[in-house]
Amino acid sequence: MGAFSERSYPMINDVLTNFMNYIDPHIHMSSRTTDDYQAMKQAGIVAVIEPAFWLGQPRTNVGSFQDYFNTLVGWERFRAAQFGIRHYCTIGLNSKEANNEPLAEEVMELLPLYLSKEGVVAIGEIGYDDMTPAEDKYFRLQLELAKELDMLVLIHTPHRNKKAGTLQSMDVCLEHGLKPSQVIVDHNNEETVRQVLDRGFWAGFTLYPHTKMSDARMVEIVRQYGCDRIIVDSSADWGISDPLAVPKTAQLMRENGIREGQIKAVCYENALVAYSQSGQMNEHDWLNPQPVDQRQLFGSSSVLRGQKPVVEESSQNYILID
Ligand SMILES: [Zn+2]
Repeated sequence: MGAFSERSYPMINDVLTNFMNYIDPHIHMSSRTTDDYQAMKQAGIVAVIEPAFWLGQPRTNVGSFQDYFNTLVGWERFRAAQFGIRHYCTIGLNSKEANNEPLAEEVMELLPLYLSKEGVVAIGEIGYDDMTPAEDKYFRLQLELAKELDMLVLIHTPHRNKKAGTLQSMDVCLEHGLKPSQVIVDHNNEETVRQVLDRGFWAGFTLYPHTKMSDARMVEIVRQYGCDRIIVDSSADWGISDPLAVPKTAQLMRENGIREGQIKAVCYENALVAYSQSGQMNEHDWLNPQPVDQRQLFGSSSVLRGQKPVVEESSQNYILID
């Protein structure tokens, strides 16, 4: 652990004393707990975007995709709302599972139905993992679908061969006639940021604790490149990740002299501007939300296990369950 590690993780109390609204535009909430939702709400996260991705093990049939997509547009959105957080999602065939071609064909048939559902802000996360011919094929087919449906695209860039994969992802988007302003390229680092910004794409940065893009490195990127079209996210999932990465990074930026306006841009506004192009995401959704009422059910399901429900009179007085 270097000298940076302590400064890289501001205490949650520091985050709470500098209240700002945040958006985490890339987080896999269906693999997170209700404790996470409570902590996120408390730290100022008002809205999340949950991209469709893989489950850590390959799905064996199309029904698994269908149920997962239903979770993203249904149960998970309800669950987030029960903790006062607005939930949106992206729908797509992830790059890893594009390699199972017979299954990929069936998923492609499902996509238009789910892409047209309320709260779906983009096709994603799609792109390359190992950069195989099958990944390339289904990436391109989904870009064609994005063009046909006039949708935004969220690109997952590969963790290996990062630079080559990122450049190729952008080339392929342009080749298929997508506008850079329609495409959010995620999982950037110092090697890729310049070219993504120069070409006019949105540049997402996923901040994993202890490795890859750390929040200390993020501070330096904002210092060097400013805040235009840069978006911070946690990409928290079932692996080692931090659902509070966005507010914690904001706090670290504050402590290192980054201006409030720039912090707000990369931790809130840019995600809003990018994804509100979909017509599915509006600041009004969380500035004037429905009060939380945990007596509500989704089908017959509740987030409660015998606890006293939180019932807000107005959305301004959210009370956490003891
Ligand atoms: Zn992801």
